[in-house]
Amino acid sequence: RKLSLPLGVFPLELPTLGLMSENVLLSSIIYGASGIIILLPRNKNNLGYLHILYHKVHAAKNIMKSVGLDPDRIILIEFDEQDIELLVEKLNEISSDTRAKQSRVFTTEPITGDRRSRFVSMIRTLLDGRRPISDIIEYGGPIPFGEVVIDREKCTLCELCYNKCPAKAFTLVKEADTVSLGFIYQKCIGCDFCSSICPENAISLRKYLSISRLLDDSVMILVSQEIVKCLRCGRPFITRGKLRKIEKIYEGIGAGNVDKLQSLKLCPECKRTKVVPAEYDKWLIYR
Ligand code: SF4
Ligand code: SF4
Repeated sequence: RKLSLPLGVFPLELPTLGLMSENVLLSSIIYGASGIIILLPRNKNNLGYLHILYHKVHAAKNIMKSVGLDPDRIILIEFDEQDIELLVEKLNEISSDTRAKQSRVFTTEPITGDRRSRFVSMIRTLLDGRRPISDIIEYGGPIPFGEVVIDREKCTLCELCYNKCPAKAFTLVKEADTVSLGFIYQKCIGCDFCSSICPENAISLRKYLSISRLLDDSVMILVSQEIVKCLRCGRPFITRGKLRKIEKIYEGIGAGNVDKLQSLKLCPECKRTKVVPAEYDKWLIYR
């Protein structure tokens, strides 16, 4: 059934609720909408997604508040399809109020990039050089942001988290005799994958959205380790953490004598070309 919409209300039909996101809501405000009314027909097919939609609207409203805009410019209405008259009445009431609220075209330029970079650009555009009113945004549902915290005593710098993070939120800098693992808060999507795969159980995640941290693309160094040099050739070849782990394993199985531990400090090349032939010669003599 057709709805006769109040003047100035432009309908936009989303084929699926999954397309609704904080980005969609904020971009409408950026491009000049005075308000957004989300009409959600009550039906059992929506139930699974409903709570996620509420979280997204809740988050978008809190972001609006943080950038100094009226959160009530975003309204969600659930309605029964048989109560259309009531809905039209409600729409008229809200839209006349919404039209009175402050609206502004923040930009006419397209906001491009991946989902996260568009989100960051939108917050920056909405703030327009001002500081956020509140820095930490209450999300009220799954939080797609996080800060990685590393237990430096446990981390061996195996690089697994760096290689597997789906958002490329880790950085790795290798210098002559050190290696550093860094983290960019702006990129992290709070998926917890890194903490679930870390073989040393060294990662924990603090999930929160901080506007100031989101706008900051700097790298935070999580852990730096010396690369231990080969006892024979002097070439740096293993991180201090990995060496410590192997030493502990040797000690654990009762093989932690001085010779064995020293042999761990030989690079694979020196082990192959120098130690093995020497051991082999010894074996020949004994024979
Ligand atoms: S935090 Fe874990 S996965 Fe990442 S480098 Fe350290 S040990 Fe490896
Ligand atoms: S939580 Fe996910 S996105 Fe964030 S650093 Fe870990 S793997 Fe990457």
